[in-house]
Amino acid sequence: AAPTAIMVGTGLGAQHQVQIKGGDVLERFNNVGAFVFDKTGTLTTGRMSVKQFSPIGKVSDEMMACIRASERISEHPVAMAIADYCEEHLSRENHLVANVLQSTIHMGKGLTCECEMSGIKYRVTVGNKSLVSEESEQFSFHEAEEESGCTLSYVCINGQVVGRFELSDSIRKDAYNTIQYLKSKGIETFLVTGDTHSSAVKVAHEVGMPMNNIYSEVSPSGKSEVVEQLKVDLGQSIVFVGDGINDSPALVTSDVGIAISTGTDIAVEAADIVVLCGGNESKATLRGLIDAFDISRSTFRRVK
Ligand code: ADP
Ligand code: MG
Repeated sequence: AAPTAIMVGTGLGAQHQVQIKGGDVLERFNNVGAFVFDKTGTLTTGRMSVKQFSPIGKVSDEMMACIRASERISEHPVAMAIADYCEEHLSRENHLVANVLQSTIHMGKGLTCECEMSGIKYRVTVGNKSLVSEESEQFSFHEAEEESGCTLSYVCINGQVVGRFELSDSIRKDAYNTIQYLKSKGIETFLVTGDTHSSAVKVAHEVGMPMNNIYSEVSPSGKSEVVEQLKVDLGQSIVFVGDGINDSPALVTSDVGIAISTGTDIAVEAADIVVLCGGNESKATLRGLIDAFDISRSTFRRVK
């Protein structure tokens, strides 16, 4: 009877826009004690926008064009928002187009590109504090400026920090209910992000997650280490939920890896469960996560 019940379970999953990769996944899912959530694109919509750009000195149109060209290489939510901002702020009359000669993506940190425009070369780095400090030694922004709860990305051109982007994001409309539902089932919840501490605190507050359960400025491999450590500390199986961008190591390390997918992204291979929640606004929710959880619980109640 067990295999039949499991087939019913995975079939139910498909009806709910949830892809469950095999019956053993449902069984492991039924035994988990804690959920670890990524922030950007997982608890938040990942449709970010630049609230403010603070230049240091003069940032020329040529520089803006280089930043735009560099960020167009990446599909990271931060990159898309920054590229759009640059696009809007380039004067319409001049059609500056920078060529990207070479690019390096630093997972969970940002990117560096060699750009060329009108015969001049620019080395452009856009990313978090840790990446930009490697690129520019005299880098200093006051800590006090980092309490806003925004996502911050710095721009460094030819070894000089030339400005900082402040970006905002919003939580998914059912993120709070999802966390509270899991709590009501006795599941502990955690937040892990590559973003700043203040942005993590803001989201944790909005979804009603304990402040002690936040890990910020964590690299993609660091997220996997957090999962590993929690397994030991809690002595329980751990679910990791991520949006697939930069999250593959943690998706693999966790007992059950769940990718929240918009349907167009690629990095869902590492996941045991894929929750489709993309495209159309009304479907862009975490509902599928709860459906998968309920399916595993009811499937194994039936088996017993
Ligand atoms: P999260 O863990 O919240 O999903 P990431 O680990 O993907 O976030 O990224 C961490 C931080 O690195 C971002 O908040 C941003 O500041 C910076 N970052 C990553 N990729 C880029 C990029 N392409 N351009 C600018 N900044 C980036
Ligand atoms: Mg993410």
